[in-house]
Amino acid sequence: MAIMTTTSSHTFLPVLERIAEEIGHTPGRGRPADYIPALAARDPRSFGMAVAELDGTVYGVGEWREPFSTQSITKVFTLALDLAREGDELWEHVGREPSGNPFNSLVQLEYENGIPRNPFINAGALVVTDRLQTRTEDAAGQLLDFLRAESGNPALDFDHEVAASETAFGDRNAALAHFMASYGNIDNDVTVLLDQYFRQCSVAASCADLALATGFLARHGIRADGTRLLTRSQAKQVNAVMLTCGTYDAAGDFAYRVGLPGKSGVGGGIIAVVPGRCTLCVWSPGLDERGNSVAGVAALDRFTTLTGLSVF
Ligand code: GLU
Repeated sequence: MAIMTTTSSHTFLPVLERIAEEIGHTPGRGRPADYIPALAARDPRSFGMAVAELDGTVYGVGEWREPFSTQSITKVFTLALDLAREGDELWEHVGREPSGNPFNSLVQLEYENGIPRNPFINAGALVVTDRLQTRTEDAAGQLLDFLRAESGNPALDFDHEVAASETAFGDRNAALAHFMASYGNIDNDVTVLLDQYFRQCSVAASCADLALATGFLARHGIRADGTRLLTRSQAKQVNAVMLTCGTYDAAGDFAYRVGLPGKSGVGGGIIAVVPGRCTLCVWSPGLDERGNSVAGVAALDRFTTLTGLSVF
């Protein structure tokens, strides 16, 4: 794998090099998501991994500068942006327990009166985006501005082909949104909400961009420019929900293997946080049956094993 670096202080670079070497020799790397047709064409052998240190130093291996579809990873950022604005009132509209069901499931919503289990399943993310939309009138735009600022990459953007693909195949998300609206748990017009949500999911970013953008969670709520987005307690809360709910219904196995707060997306990316130390992002499009990147989980597992860094 090609190794590129941007600055001189690269504590974990030898570990990343070793992981890239090992992953390169691993057969069977899962299958790209195909329920969003625009994602299906990615090569499952692609692999990139980046580490961002607290001071904004970033480095990586493989295709760590290659943009990919961030998808559900964006749910972490919209959660943080909304929590920063409305605080604990959010938790009256979305829970914070693992769901034990697939990320796009409808069944639990009826038993639980339209209150989604957590902000990282699709129903919960739709509620968070809806609430951010009410407060800002442009939830996806707020997300994009935040990601650009934290990554230092003004070229980050929506991928309109992916957003259109999601809209065209978005019946299940539309059903979730309408169903929650019937319980009074959606404020905005469902069409407006879905447009915001699909654009949010379509943002294309690289491992370098996302590792940097996640930095506020390792800095206990402090943004790249030194201002505070979340209280220390709120940063802990977001990290905790990532640990328990961030990797679909395999969060228990992810915590067992990796031992870090993490959030995956069906584009094959995973972000992870070592609070007080650094953030990581790994990308490889081949997914397991739960929706997590096969090589991505394996690489994070190796990272925490080789470095001894975890929250435990
Ligand atoms: N945009 C995707 C969806 O709503 C996100 C899925 C994901 O990455 O978990 O189905």
